[in-house]
Amino acid sequence: MSTFRAPKGTFDLIPPSSAAFLAVREAMSETVRLAGYQYVETPVFEDTALFKRGVGESTDIVTKEMYTFTTQGGDSVTLRPEGTASVLRAALQANLHKAGQLPVKLYYSGSYFRYEKPQKGRYRHFSQVGAEALGAEDPMLDAELILLAVEAYRRLGLREVRLLLNTLGDRTCRPVYRAALQEFLRGLDLDEETRARVEINPLRVLDDKRPHVRAQLTDAPRIADYLCEECKAFHGEVRELLTSAGVAFEDDPNLVRGLDYYTRTTFEFVHDGLGSQSAVGGGGRYDGLSEMIGGSALPSVGWALGVDRTVLAMEAEGLLAQEVSRVQVFAVPLGEQARRLLFGVLGQLRAQGVSADTVYGARGLKAAMKAADRSGARYALVAGERDLADNLVQLKDLVSGEQIPVAVAEIIPTIKEKLS
Ligand code: AMP
Repeated sequence: MSTFRAPKGTFDLIPPSSAAFLAVREAMSETVRLAGYQYVETPVFEDTALFKRGVGESTDIVTKEMYTFTTQGGDSVTLRPEGTASVLRAALQANLHKAGQLPVKLYYSGSYFRYEKPQKGRYRHFSQVGAEALGAEDPMLDAELILLAVEAYRRLGLREVRLLLNTLGDRTCRPVYRAALQEFLRGLDLDEETRARVEINPLRVLDDKRPHVRAQLTDAPRIADYLCEECKAFHGEVRELLTSAGVAFEDDPNLVRGLDYYTRTTFEFVHDGLGSQSAVGGGGRYDGLSEMIGGSALPSVGWALGVDRTVLAMEAEGLLAQEVSRVQVFAVPLGEQARRLLFGVLGQLRAQGVSADTVYGARGLKAAMKAADRSGARYALVAGERDLADNLVQLKDLVSGEQIPVAVAEIIPTIKEKLS
Protein backbone atom coordinates (compact mmCIF):
# COMPACT_ATOMS: atom_id res chain seq x y z
CA MET A 1 0.00 0.00 0.00
CA SER A 2 1.24 3.49 -0.82
CA THR A 3 1.75 6.01 1.97
CA PHE A 4 -0.68 8.30 0.18
CA ARG A 5 -4.45 8.11 0.41
CA ALA A 6 -7.16 9.85 -1.63
CA PRO A 7 -7.80 13.26 0.00
CA LYS A 8 -10.52 13.52 2.66
CA GLY A 9 -13.99 13.63 1.12
CA THR A 10 -12.86 12.06 -2.15
CA PHE A 11 -12.74 8.51 -3.41
CA ASP A 12 -11.33 6.68 -6.39
CA LEU A 13 -13.47 5.05 -9.01
CA ILE A 14 -11.94 1.64 -9.33
CA PRO A 15 -13.10 -1.56 -10.99
CA PRO A 16 -15.43 -3.30 -10.74
CA SER A 17 -17.71 -0.55 -9.34
CA SER A 18 -16.31 2.10 -11.73
CA ALA A 19 -18.36 0.42 -14.48
CA ALA A 20 -21.56 1.50 -12.72
CA PHE A 21 -20.41 5.13 -12.74
CA LEU A 22 -19.75 5.00 -16.46
CA ALA A 23 -23.11 3.36 -17.08
CA VAL A 24 -24.91 6.07 -15.09
CA ARG A 25 -23.12 8.87 -16.91
CA GLU A 26 -23.83 7.23 -20.24
CA ALA A 27 -27.53 6.62 -19.51
CA MET A 28 -28.00 10.26 -18.53
CA SER A 29 -26.00 11.58 -21.48
CA GLU A 30 -27.68 9.32 -24.01
CA THR A 31 -31.11 10.36 -22.76
CA VAL A 32 -30.50 14.07 -23.33
CA ARG A 33 -28.70 13.51 -26.63
CA LEU A 34 -31.94 11.93 -27.86
CA ALA A 35 -33.61 15.29 -27.22
CA GLY A 36 -30.97 17.22 -29.18
CA TYR A 37 -28.71 18.33 -26.34
CA GLN A 38 -25.08 18.68 -27.46
CA TYR A 39 -21.96 18.07 -25.43
CA VAL A 40 -20.10 20.99 -23.86
CA GLU A 41 -16.97 20.89 -21.70
CA THR A 42 -15.58 23.84 -19.81
CA PRO A 43 -12.42 24.22 -17.67
CA VAL A 44 -12.64 22.79 -14.16
CA PHE A 45 -11.65 26.20 -12.80
CA GLU A 46 -13.00 29.66 -13.53
CA ASP A 47 -12.54 33.22 -12.33
CA THR A 48 -13.76 33.26 -8.75
CA ALA A 49 -16.03 36.22 -9.55
CA LEU A 50 -18.10 34.10 -11.96
CA PHE A 51 -19.31 31.87 -9.13
CA LYS A 52 -19.65 34.70 -6.64
CA ARG A 53 -21.98 36.47 -9.02
CA GLY A 54 -23.53 33.44 -10.63
CA VAL A 55 -24.14 31.16 -7.65
CA GLY A 56 -24.74 34.03 -5.20
CA GLU A 57 -22.73 35.72 -2.45
CA SER A 58 -25.08 34.57 0.30
CA THR A 59 -25.13 30.87 -0.54
CA ASP A 60 -23.34 28.20 1.48
CA ILE A 61 -21.51 27.21 -1.68
CA VAL A 62 -19.87 30.62 -2.06
CA THR A 63 -19.38 31.50 1.59
CA LYS A 64 -18.11 28.15 2.86
CA GLU A 65 -17.55 25.55 0.20
CA MET A 66 -15.46 26.91 -2.64
CA TYR A 67 -11.96 25.70 -3.46
CA THR A 68 -10.50 29.11 -4.18
CA PHE A 69 -6.83 29.87 -4.69
CA THR A 70 -4.56 32.52 -6.08
CA THR A 71 -2.50 31.50 -9.10
CA GLN A 72 1.23 32.17 -9.58
CA GLY A 73 0.12 35.13 -11.69
CA GLY A 74 -2.00 36.57 -8.88
CA ASP A 75 -5.46 35.72 -10.24
CA SER A 76 -8.17 34.29 -8.01
CA VAL A 77 -9.62 31.13 -9.49
CA THR A 78 -12.07 28.58 -8.11
CA LEU A 79 -12.62 24.91 -8.84
CA ARG A 80 -16.15 24.76 -10.23
CA PRO A 81 -18.71 23.97 -7.51
CA GLU A 82 -21.50 23.52 -10.09
CA GLY A 83 -21.96 23.55 -13.85
CA THR A 84 -24.56 26.09 -14.86
CA ALA A 85 -22.58 29.32 -14.46
CA SER A 86 -19.64 27.93 -16.48
CA VAL A 87 -21.82 26.56 -19.27
CA LEU A 88 -23.71 29.82 -19.59
CA ARG A 89 -20.42 31.73 -19.56
CA ALA A 90 -19.08 29.51 -22.34
CA ALA A 91 -22.24 29.87 -24.44
CA LEU A 92 -22.20 33.65 -24.09
CA GLN A 93 -18.48 33.82 -24.86
CA ALA A 94 -18.93 31.78 -28.06
CA ASN A 95 -22.15 33.62 -28.95
CA LEU A 96 -23.94 30.29 -29.30
CA HIS A 97 -27.20 32.08 -28.55
CA LYS A 98 -26.76 34.21 -31.66
CA ALA A 99 -25.67 31.41 -33.96
CA GLY A 100 -29.02 29.81 -34.64
CA GLN A 101 -32.33 28.80 -33.29
CA LEU A 102 -33.06 29.13 -29.59
CA PRO A 103 -32.92 27.38 -27.22
CA VAL A 104 -29.30 26.29 -27.28
CA LYS A 105 -29.41 22.80 -25.81
CA LEU A 106 -26.23 21.71 -24.05
CA TYR A 107 -25.21 18.88 -21.77
CA TYR A 108 -22.09 18.13 -19.77
CA SER A 109 -20.55 15.50 -17.57
CA GLY A 110 -17.70 16.04 -15.16
CA SER A 111 -16.17 16.69 -11.76
CA TYR A 112 -17.36 19.31 -9.27
CA PHE A 113 -15.76 20.48 -6.05
CA ARG A 114 -17.25 21.67 -2.80
CA TYR A 115 -15.48 21.91 0.53
CA GLU A 116 -18.25 20.14 2.44
CA LYS A 117 -18.29 18.09 5.58
CA PRO A 118 -17.89 14.62 4.08
CA GLN A 119 -20.42 11.88 4.79
CA LYS A 120 -22.08 9.14 2.81
CA GLY A 121 -23.37 10.71 -0.41
CA ARG A 122 -21.68 14.02 0.26
CA TYR A 123 -18.17 14.43 -1.05
CA ARG A 124 -15.68 17.17 -1.74
CA HIS A 125 -15.16 15.91 -5.24
CA PHE A 126 -18.25 14.56 -6.96
CA SER A 127 -19.60 13.96 -10.39
CA GLN A 128 -22.61 15.38 -12.20
CA VAL A 129 -24.27 15.13 -15.57
CA GLY A 130 -26.09 18.34 -16.41
CA ALA A 131 -28.34 19.66 -19.15
CA GLU A 132 -29.18 23.27 -19.92
CA ALA A 133 -31.61 24.80 -22.43
CA LEU A 134 -30.59 28.41 -23.00
CA GLY A 135 -32.62 31.27 -24.38
CA ALA A 136 -36.26 30.19 -24.39
CA GLU A 137 -39.09 30.96 -22.02
CA ASP A 138 -41.31 28.01 -22.71
CA PRO A 139 -42.85 25.82 -19.98
CA MET A 140 -42.51 22.89 -22.37
CA LEU A 141 -38.75 23.09 -21.92
CA ASP A 142 -39.04 22.90 -18.14
CA ALA A 143 -41.33 19.90 -18.48
CA GLU A 144 -39.09 18.33 -21.12
CA LEU A 145 -36.01 18.52 -18.93
CA ILE A 146 -37.85 17.02 -15.99
CA LEU A 147 -39.16 14.26 -18.22
CA LEU A 148 -35.65 13.55 -19.52
CA ALA A 149 -34.31 13.14 -15.99
CA VAL A 150 -37.21 10.82 -15.17
CA GLU A 151 -36.37 8.84 -18.31
CA ALA A 152 -32.68 8.61 -17.34
CA TYR A 153 -33.62 7.18 -13.93
CA ARG A 154 -36.05 4.79 -15.61
CA ARG A 155 -33.36 3.54 -17.99
CA LEU A 156 -31.16 2.80 -15.02
CA GLY A 157 -33.94 0.73 -13.52
CA LEU A 158 -34.59 3.07 -10.57
CA ARG A 159 -38.14 2.88 -9.29
CA GLU A 160 -38.03 4.90 -6.09
CA VAL A 161 -37.06 8.37 -7.26
CA ARG A 162 -39.58 11.05 -6.26
CA LEU A 163 -39.97 14.43 -7.92
CA LEU A 164 -40.50 17.56 -5.80
CA LEU A 165 -41.75 20.63 -7.63
CA ASN A 166 -42.05 24.30 -6.82
CA THR A 167 -41.96 27.74 -8.40
CA LEU A 168 -40.10 30.76 -7.07
CA GLY A 169 -41.87 33.46 -9.05
CA ASP A 170 -40.09 36.07 -11.13
CA ARG A 171 -38.77 39.60 -10.75
CA THR A 172 -42.32 40.96 -10.54
CA CYS A 173 -43.81 38.76 -7.86
CA ARG A 174 -40.83 37.38 -5.99
CA PRO A 175 -39.85 40.72 -4.34
CA VAL A 176 -43.35 41.05 -2.86
CA TYR A 177 -43.18 37.51 -1.53
CA ARG A 178 -39.63 38.04 -0.32
CA ALA A 179 -40.69 41.07 1.72
CA ALA A 180 -43.63 39.22 3.26
CA LEU A 181 -41.43 36.25 4.12
CA GLN A 182 -38.77 38.51 5.59
CA GLU A 183 -41.36 40.21 7.76
CA PHE A 184 -42.49 36.79 9.04
CA LEU A 185 -38.96 35.47 9.61
CA ARG A 186 -37.87 38.54 11.58
CA GLY A 187 -40.43 37.55 14.22
CA LEU A 188 -38.92 34.09 14.78
CA ASP A 189 -36.41 32.81 17.31
CA LEU A 190 -33.33 32.31 15.14
CA ASP A 191 -29.58 32.28 15.68
CA GLU A 192 -27.41 35.13 14.48
CA GLU A 193 -26.26 33.48 11.27
CA THR A 194 -29.83 32.65 10.25
CA ARG A 195 -31.00 36.18 11.12
CA ALA A 196 -28.29 37.51 8.82
CA ARG A 197 -29.56 35.17 6.11
CA VAL A 198 -33.10 36.53 6.61
CA GLU A 199 -31.75 39.92 5.58
CA ILE A 200 -29.67 38.76 2.60
CA ASN A 201 -31.63 35.85 1.20
CA PRO A 202 -34.78 35.01 3.18
CA LEU A 203 -35.95 32.30 0.76
CA ARG A 204 -32.93 30.22 1.68
CA VAL A 205 -34.18 30.01 5.25
CA LEU A 206 -37.06 27.86 3.93
CA ASP A 207 -34.40 25.35 2.96
CA ASP A 208 -33.09 25.06 6.53
CA LYS A 209 -33.14 21.42 7.56
CA ARG A 210 -32.79 21.90 11.34
CA PRO A 211 -35.93 20.72 13.22
CA HIS A 212 -36.20 23.77 15.51
CA VAL A 213 -36.15 26.04 12.46
CA ARG A 214 -38.52 23.84 10.46
CA ALA A 215 -40.99 23.82 13.36
CA GLN A 216 -41.22 27.62 13.21
CA LEU A 217 -41.84 27.69 9.48
CA THR A 218 -45.22 25.97 9.34
CA ASP A 219 -47.13 29.26 9.09
CA ALA A 220 -44.66 31.00 6.80
CA PRO A 221 -46.19 32.81 3.83
CA ARG A 222 -46.29 30.62 0.71
CA ILE A 223 -45.06 31.63 -2.68
CA ALA A 224 -48.17 30.16 -4.30
CA ASP A 225 -50.24 32.96 -2.74
CA TYR A 226 -48.02 35.65 -4.19
CA LEU A 227 -47.45 34.53 -7.78
CA CYS A 228 -48.20 37.03 -10.54
CA GLU A 229 -50.56 35.95 -13.33
CA GLU A 230 -47.71 35.10 -15.73
CA CYS A 231 -45.90 32.93 -13.20
CA LYS A 232 -49.13 31.22 -12.20
CA ALA A 233 -49.93 30.42 -15.83
CA PHE A 234 -46.36 29.26 -16.51
CA HIS A 235 -46.32 26.94 -13.52
CA GLY A 236 -49.80 25.66 -14.35
CA GLU A 237 -48.58 24.73 -17.82
CA VAL A 238 -45.50 22.91 -16.48
CA ARG A 239 -47.71 20.92 -14.13
CA GLU A 240 -50.19 20.09 -16.87
CA LEU A 241 -47.50 18.91 -19.26
CA LEU A 242 -45.99 16.71 -16.59
CA THR A 243 -49.37 15.27 -15.69
CA SER A 244 -50.24 14.56 -19.31
CA ALA A 245 -46.86 12.82 -19.70
CA GLY A 246 -47.70 10.64 -16.71
CA VAL A 247 -44.98 12.08 -14.49
CA ALA A 248 -45.88 12.01 -10.80
CA PHE A 249 -44.73 14.98 -8.72
CA GLU A 250 -45.22 16.42 -5.25
CA ASP A 251 -45.66 20.14 -4.66
CA ASP A 252 -43.07 21.34 -2.18
CA PRO A 253 -43.47 25.04 -1.33
CA ASN A 254 -40.23 24.98 0.69
CA LEU A 255 -38.09 23.80 -2.20
CA VAL A 256 -35.82 26.77 -2.94
CA ARG A 257 -32.50 25.02 -3.71
CA GLY A 258 -29.09 26.16 -2.57
CA LEU A 259 -28.27 28.48 -5.42
CA ASP A 260 -29.46 32.04 -5.87
CA TYR A 261 -30.07 32.09 -9.57
CA TYR A 262 -33.35 30.23 -9.80
CA THR A 263 -36.61 31.83 -10.95
CA ARG A 264 -39.98 30.17 -11.52
CA THR A 265 -39.68 26.37 -11.85
CA THR A 266 -37.49 24.57 -9.31
CA PHE A 267 -37.42 20.84 -8.80
CA GLU A 268 -35.50 18.17 -7.05
CA PHE A 269 -35.32 14.40 -7.38
CA VAL A 270 -35.02 12.54 -4.09
CA HIS A 271 -34.43 8.91 -3.21
CA ASP A 272 -35.56 7.64 0.17
CA GLY A 273 -32.96 4.89 0.33
CA LEU A 274 -30.11 7.35 0.83
CA GLY A 275 -30.57 8.75 4.33
CA SER A 276 -29.96 12.45 4.86
CA GLN A 277 -28.26 13.11 1.50
CA SER A 278 -31.37 12.15 -0.40
CA ALA A 279 -31.24 14.57 -3.35
CA VAL A 280 -30.09 12.67 -6.42
CA GLY A 281 -30.61 15.59 -8.80
CA GLY A 282 -32.14 19.00 -9.13
CA GLY A 283 -32.56 22.06 -11.22
CA GLY A 284 -34.83 24.80 -12.36
CA ARG A 285 -35.30 27.90 -14.41
CA TYR A 286 -32.82 30.74 -14.19
CA ASP A 287 -34.12 33.59 -16.32
CA GLY A 288 -31.91 36.23 -14.72
CA LEU A 289 -28.55 34.46 -14.49
CA SER A 290 -27.24 35.58 -17.87
CA GLU A 291 -27.64 39.24 -16.94
CA MET A 292 -26.12 38.56 -13.51
CA ILE A 293 -22.90 37.44 -15.18
CA GLY A 294 -22.85 40.32 -17.64
CA GLY A 295 -24.67 38.79 -20.62
CA SER A 296 -27.87 39.71 -22.42
CA ALA A 297 -31.24 38.44 -21.22
CA LEU A 298 -31.34 34.70 -21.83
CA PRO A 299 -34.17 32.92 -20.04
CA SER A 300 -33.02 29.35 -19.44
CA VAL A 301 -33.69 26.15 -17.58
CA GLY A 302 -31.53 23.22 -16.60
CA TRP A 303 -30.69 20.45 -14.19
CA ALA A 304 -27.74 18.60 -12.74
CA LEU A 305 -27.97 14.97 -11.70
CA GLY A 306 -25.53 13.61 -9.14
CA VAL A 307 -23.74 10.57 -10.51
CA ASP A 308 -22.34 9.39 -7.15
CA ARG A 309 -25.70 9.47 -5.43
CA THR A 310 -27.43 7.84 -8.37
CA VAL A 311 -25.00 4.93 -8.05
CA LEU A 312 -25.80 4.80 -4.31
CA ALA A 313 -29.52 4.80 -5.16
CA MET A 314 -28.99 1.90 -7.54
CA GLU A 315 -27.11 0.05 -4.84
CA ALA A 316 -29.99 0.72 -2.43
CA GLU A 317 -32.43 -0.78 -4.96
CA GLY A 318 -30.17 -3.76 -5.56
CA LEU A 319 -29.50 -2.80 -9.16
CA LEU A 320 -25.72 -3.03 -9.24
CA ALA A 321 -24.47 -6.04 -11.18
CA GLN A 322 -22.53 -8.39 -8.93
CA GLU A 323 -20.27 -9.70 -11.64
CA VAL A 324 -18.81 -7.49 -14.26
CA SER A 325 -17.70 -9.03 -17.49
CA ARG A 326 -14.45 -7.39 -18.58
CA VAL A 327 -14.23 -8.96 -22.03
CA GLN A 328 -16.22 -11.35 -24.20
CA VAL A 329 -13.38 -13.59 -25.35
CA PHE A 330 -10.24 -14.75 -23.55
CA ALA A 331 -7.33 -16.26 -25.48
CA VAL A 332 -5.31 -19.07 -23.90
CA PRO A 333 -2.16 -19.81 -25.95
CA LEU A 334 -0.06 -22.84 -25.12
CA GLY A 335 3.40 -22.34 -26.60
CA GLU A 336 5.13 -19.74 -28.71
CA GLN A 337 3.46 -20.52 -32.01
CA ALA A 338 0.01 -20.30 -30.41
CA ARG A 339 0.92 -17.01 -28.78
CA ARG A 340 1.75 -15.46 -32.16
CA LEU A 341 -1.36 -16.81 -33.81
CA LEU A 342 -3.68 -15.66 -31.03
CA PHE A 343 -1.98 -12.26 -30.85
CA GLY A 344 -3.17 -11.73 -34.42
CA VAL A 345 -6.63 -13.13 -33.67
CA LEU A 346 -7.02 -10.75 -30.70
CA GLY A 347 -6.33 -7.79 -32.96
CA GLN A 348 -8.89 -8.99 -35.50
CA LEU A 349 -11.55 -9.60 -32.84
CA ARG A 350 -11.08 -6.13 -31.38
CA ALA A 351 -11.18 -4.56 -34.85
CA GLN A 352 -14.59 -6.24 -35.28
CA GLY A 353 -15.84 -4.80 -32.01
CA VAL A 354 -15.46 -7.98 -29.96
CA SER A 355 -13.69 -7.34 -26.66
CA ALA A 356 -10.87 -9.77 -26.02
CA ASP A 357 -7.94 -10.28 -23.67
CA THR A 358 -5.28 -12.88 -22.94
CA VAL A 359 -2.57 -13.84 -20.43
CA TYR A 360 0.80 -12.15 -20.33
CA GLY A 361 4.10 -13.50 -19.09
CA ALA A 362 4.87 -17.21 -19.04
CA ARG A 363 1.74 -18.91 -17.64
CA GLY A 364 0.67 -22.50 -17.51
CA LEU A 365 -2.70 -23.80 -18.71
CA LYS A 366 -4.23 -23.84 -15.24
CA ALA A 367 -3.32 -20.22 -14.43
CA ALA A 368 -4.47 -19.11 -17.88
CA MET A 369 -7.88 -20.82 -17.53
CA LYS A 370 -8.28 -19.21 -14.12
CA ALA A 371 -7.56 -15.82 -15.66
CA ALA A 372 -10.13 -16.58 -18.37
CA ASP A 373 -12.77 -17.31 -15.71
CA ARG A 374 -11.90 -14.17 -13.76
CA SER A 375 -12.22 -12.01 -16.87
CA GLY A 376 -15.91 -12.84 -17.08
CA ALA A 377 -15.44 -13.83 -20.74
CA ARG A 378 -18.12 -16.00 -22.33
CA TYR A 379 -15.63 -17.87 -24.53
CA ALA A 380 -12.07 -19.07 -24.12
CA LEU A 381 -10.00 -19.64 -27.22
CA VAL A 382 -7.49 -22.37 -26.36
CA ALA A 383 -4.65 -23.02 -28.81
CA GLY A 384 -2.19 -25.87 -28.20
CA GLU A 385 0.67 -27.22 -30.33
CA ARG A 386 -1.11 -30.40 -31.39
CA ASP A 387 -4.35 -28.67 -32.48
CA LEU A 388 -2.38 -26.04 -34.32
CA ALA A 389 -0.59 -28.73 -36.30
CA ASP A 390 -4.09 -29.57 -37.64
CA ASN A 391 -4.87 -25.87 -38.10
CA LEU A 392 -7.40 -25.97 -35.26
CA VAL A 393 -8.08 -24.21 -31.98
CA GLN A 394 -10.56 -25.11 -29.22
CA LEU A 395 -13.44 -22.77 -28.48
CA LYS A 396 -14.71 -23.29 -24.96
CA ASP A 397 -18.02 -21.91 -23.73
CA LEU A 398 -17.14 -20.87 -20.18
CA VAL A 399 -20.76 -20.93 -19.07
CA SER A 400 -21.80 -24.39 -20.34
CA GLY A 401 -18.30 -25.90 -20.36
CA GLU A 402 -18.89 -27.18 -23.88
CA GLN A 403 -15.82 -27.19 -26.12
CA ILE A 404 -15.62 -27.42 -29.92
CA PRO A 405 -12.70 -27.47 -32.38
CA VAL A 406 -12.69 -24.56 -34.83
CA ALA A 407 -10.55 -24.16 -37.95
CA VAL A 408 -8.15 -21.23 -37.64
CA ALA A 409 -9.69 -19.52 -40.67
CA GLU A 410 -13.15 -19.82 -39.06
CA ILE A 411 -12.30 -18.35 -35.63
CA ILE A 412 -13.58 -14.83 -36.22
CA PRO A 413 -16.87 -15.69 -37.99
CA THR A 414 -17.61 -18.49 -35.50
CA ILE A 415 -17.15 -16.25 -32.48
CA LYS A 416 -19.09 -13.42 -34.05
CA GLU A 417 -21.97 -15.74 -34.83
CA LYS A 418 -22.03 -17.21 -31.34
CA LEU A 419 -21.99 -13.77 -29.72
CA SER A 420 -24.72 -12.31 -31.90
P1 AMP B 1 -27.11 20.91 -6.57
O1 AMP B 1 -26.92 21.75 -7.76
O2 AMP B 1 -26.35 21.31 -5.39
O3 AMP B 1 -28.56 20.62 -6.27
O4 AMP B 1 -26.49 19.50 -7.01
C1 AMP B 1 -27.14 18.65 -7.93
C2 AMP B 1 -26.93 17.23 -7.53
O5 AMP B 1 -25.53 16.95 -7.42
C3 AMP B 1 -27.48 16.88 -6.16
O6 AMP B 1 -28.83 16.54 -6.25
C4 AMP B 1 -26.61 15.74 -5.73
O7 AMP B 1 -27.09 14.53 -6.29
C5 AMP B 1 -25.29 16.06 -6.37
N1 AMP B 1 -24.38 16.67 -5.36
C6 AMP B 1 -24.31 17.95 -4.96
N2 AMP B 1 -23.37 18.13 -4.04
C7 AMP B 1 -22.80 16.92 -3.83
C8 AMP B 1 -21.75 16.44 -3.01
N3 AMP B 1 -21.06 17.25 -2.19
N4 AMP B 1 -21.43 15.11 -3.06
C9 AMP B 1 -22.10 14.28 -3.88
N5 AMP B 1 -23.09 14.68 -4.69
C10 AMP B 1 -23.45 15.98 -4.68
